[in-house]
Amino acid sequence: MISAKGYAALTPRASLAPWRFERREVGETDVQFDILYCGVCHSDLHQVRDEWSPGIFPMVPGHEIVGKVVKVGKGVKKFKVGDLAAVGCLVDSCRTCENCQQGLEQYCLTGSVGTYNSLGKDGLPTYGGYSNTIVVHEDFVLTVSDKLSLPAVAPLLCAGITTYSPLRYWKIGKGHRLAVLGLGGLGHMGVKFGVAFGAEVTVLSTSPAKEADAKKLGAHKFLLTSDAAQLKAARHSFDFILDTVSAPHDLKSYLKMLKTNGTHILVGIPPEPSRIHAFHLMNGRKSLAASGIGGIPETQEMLDYCAEHNIVSDIELIQIKDIEKAYERMIKGDVRYRFVIDMASL
Ligand code: NAP
Ligand code: ZN
Ligand code: ZN
Repeated sequence: MISAKGYAALTPRASLAPWRFERREVGETDVQFDILYCGVCHSDLHQVRDEWSPGIFPMVPGHEIVGKVVKVGKGVKKFKVGDLAAVGCLVDSCRTCENCQQGLEQYCLTGSVGTYNSLGKDGLPTYGGYSNTIVVHEDFVLTVSDKLSLPAVAPLLCAGITTYSPLRYWKIGKGHRLAVLGLGGLGHMGVKFGVAFGAEVTVLSTSPAKEADAKKLGAHKFLLTSDAAQLKAARHSFDFILDTVSAPHDLKSYLKMLKTNGTHILVGIPPEPSRIHAFHLMNGRKSLAASGIGGIPETQEMLDYCAEHNIVSDIELIQIKDIEKAYERMIKGDVRYRFVIDMASL
């Protein structure tokens, strides 16, 4: 086994603290890379605090991982020692079901293996990117361009693909009015992609202080969701709402802002379920949908698109000892717009 170190929550809701653990040896088709940077996703916080369902502890979070290859198995074709490499939210899936065959590994019919808080095919828990090194089958390792700033690439592995994928699936672009609800890690990437794809983008936010940033990110309009008059004035105006909010919120008031036939796409995953009445969708034949991360081919497509169009995340680089402070700021919506851990600080 390979000895590894990282930060873990030893029990549900425990603060993260240094922890030593083991990773599997590099197998024939595995890539081992040393982690240089790891983004901090709100899903990390939901999971270490056990807000969704009982998790697997000790838990080493982190699924926005970039680094440099240090070892490859004999059968590895895509990578060699010294290459940049990245891993997102997935490290395995069955590869044979109809979804995996289409590159939709996130919807694997037998259940994909998450980068952490999951059980691998060997029955052992997976541990994420708040750590110094990782071993992953090459099929789930992405290639990264050296043209972009590496710490700012890390969040693309979750925040990037989670917003890119639904915008592509619903073919959102020129001629569409897109609202991005919540300007955090996912939200700011939703704005960047929406603008790049040609949509007219409005940010819907609870934070008046983010208006100037929204415009800098390329958004055409900004709407303060705590202002009832602004909400009312925006009724029937959007083709799509990309909902990235991490906390419980009232979907009714947002559904009213959709045009007839409009679609509200959930990507945020608040701990509590939402309540809506059929009438909220029926009046205007509206759709409520959701989208989960993205498959491996689409994640590579997104990374390549970002390299070509010079798109990265806006980040605040932190030391790993400050992770709990970063979580507290994230809960307050005070992230501009993704914390990324500099793993040299481990
Ligand atoms: P984040 O950086 O904390 O951003 C969430 C934003 O939501 C905040 O910045 C804030 O924006 C807004 N918000 C927070 N509390 C709110 C409230 N009570 N009412 C209204 N708005 C509120 O989080 P993130 O990393 O982008 O993740 C967002 C959500 O997506 C999380 O639930 C996460 O688990 C989920 N997620 C899902 C997937 C997927 O595959 N679908 C992948 C990754 C993450 P404003 O200040 O602008 O209001
Ligand atoms: Zn994530
Ligand atoms: Zn499958």
